[in-house]
Amino acid sequence: MVHICVQCDQPARLCCSACSTTGSMTWYCSESCQKNHWICHIFKCKRRTREINTGDHLALAVYRSRLPLDPQTRLDYGFDRAFTTDVKLLLFGMYRVLLIDFNLSSQKLHKWRLHGILLEKIEAALISPEGPRSPYYVWLQGNSWILDTSQPSVLEDMGRGQEAAAIHNTGIGDSVTPTQFIGILDTWPQTKRDCLELWIDIYCFKHPSPQSDCWVTFGFCVCDTENDELRLCRIYRSLRDRCSFDEFWRAYDMSSLMALFDSKECVEARSQQYRHLEGVLRGPPGHVDSIWELKRLAMGGSLDGTSRAIFDYGMDNCKEQAERNELAEIYIKFFARRLGDPMDLHKAACEGKIYEYLSGLMKVKKKFKSLMKKIEYPFQFSSLESDRAAHRSVQTSKS
Ligand SMILES: [Zn+2]
Ligand SMILES: [Zn+2]
Repeated sequence: MVHICVQCDQPARLCCSACSTTGSMTWYCSESCQKNHWICHIFKCKRRTREINTGDHLALAVYRSRLPLDPQTRLDYGFDRAFTTDVKLLLFGMYRVLLIDFNLSSQKLHKWRLHGILLEKIEAALISPEGPRSPYYVWLQGNSWILDTSQPSVLEDMGRGQEAAAIHNTGIGDSVTPTQFIGILDTWPQTKRDCLELWIDIYCFKHPSPQSDCWVTFGFCVCDTENDELRLCRIYRSLRDRCSFDEFWRAYDMSSLMALFDSKECVEARSQQYRHLEGVLRGPPGHVDSIWELKRLAMGGSLDGTSRAIFDYGMDNCKEQAERNELAEIYIKFFARRLGDPMDLHKAACEGKIYEYLSGLMKVKKKFKSLMKKIEYPFQFSSLESDRAAHRSVQTSKS
C-alpha cells in the first residue's frame, strides 16, 4: 500500500514514531516535511511529551495563514490589544518572520512570554547582527505597547470612542443609557442587529472573524486571504460613508446590498476577487450556499448541528469523531491551499461528485469516497432555491 505524505502529497515512507505504536499513522515523505508539519501534528499526536501552549496555537495560525482565533492566544500575544485588523495583520506578519524566516520555535516564544521578556527578546531577534534590521523592528519600536501591557492601549481607547460613534450613527442618539440601549436592541429584528455588529466592526477598523455570523452573511467568506477581507472591510466603509444605517439595513434585509453598492458607485465590490460576493448577498439573510459554511468550519469557526454543510459534505456520514476530523482535514486542505474555486466544489457536491472533484486536485484516500456523499437534509425546510424564490416574491410584493 502506498502511503501519502500529509504535508506535500508525495509518496511517504516515514511516520510519526511517537504515535505509530498506537496504530494511528501519520505519514511523511521526508524529515523536512515532518518538521514542517509538526505544528499541526502536535495537536493530535497520541504521544506528545508536553502540554499544548498558546505559542503552539500561534504557530499553527501562522502555518495556516489565518489570525489566531483561540482567545487565550490572542490575549497572550497582543492580538486583542492590536485591536484593528491592519495592526493585527502587521503583528501577525512579525510572528511569521520570527517563526518561519528566523526558524524560532513556538516553545521559545512561549518561554519568553512566561518569563515576561517577550518584547525585549523579539526586539533582539529582529536586529540581525549581519544584515539590515527587519522593517518589523522599526515598526515594533513605535508600537511596543502592543506587547507591553504596562503601557496603555492606544487603540482600545480609540475603539471605545468609535463604538459609540457607530451606535450614534444608527440613529439611536447620544442620550440613551446602556440599559435603554439594550432595551432598544431587543425590539430590533435580527437582520438589524447583524448590521449593527458589522457597523461597529467597520467603525473600529476591524473585520468579522469566522467565528461571527457576519463573516458569512456579509460575504467575507468569499475572500481568499485575510488581506482581501480587510479590503472588503474598506469597501463596506466607503459604502457606510455614502448611505445611512437604515438604508444599509433595508438593503441587507431585502438581499439587495449589491444593488446598493452599485447605486453608491462602490465599484470595487464588483472586483474579480469578490466574484462570489453577489451570490452570497443575494440569498435571504442568514442563508448562504453550504460551501461557505463549510469554509467557515475549515477556517476555525464552528457550525451548529443543523448546518447544511454537515449534510451536503458528508460530515454526518462519519461514524465517529476521528473519521469526521479526517474528512474535515481534507476540506481544510482544499481551502487553505486554495486548490480550486469553492463554487466548483459546491457544484460537485450538488452533483454527488465531491470525491471525483477533489481527487483531481489532491490525493484523497479511497475510503472517503463513500463518505463524501450528500445526504438529505433532515429538516422540513424548503430548499434553498425555493427559499430564495419566496424571498424574492415577498420583495416584489413589498415594492
Ligand atoms: Zn512530504
Ligand atoms: Zn505523532
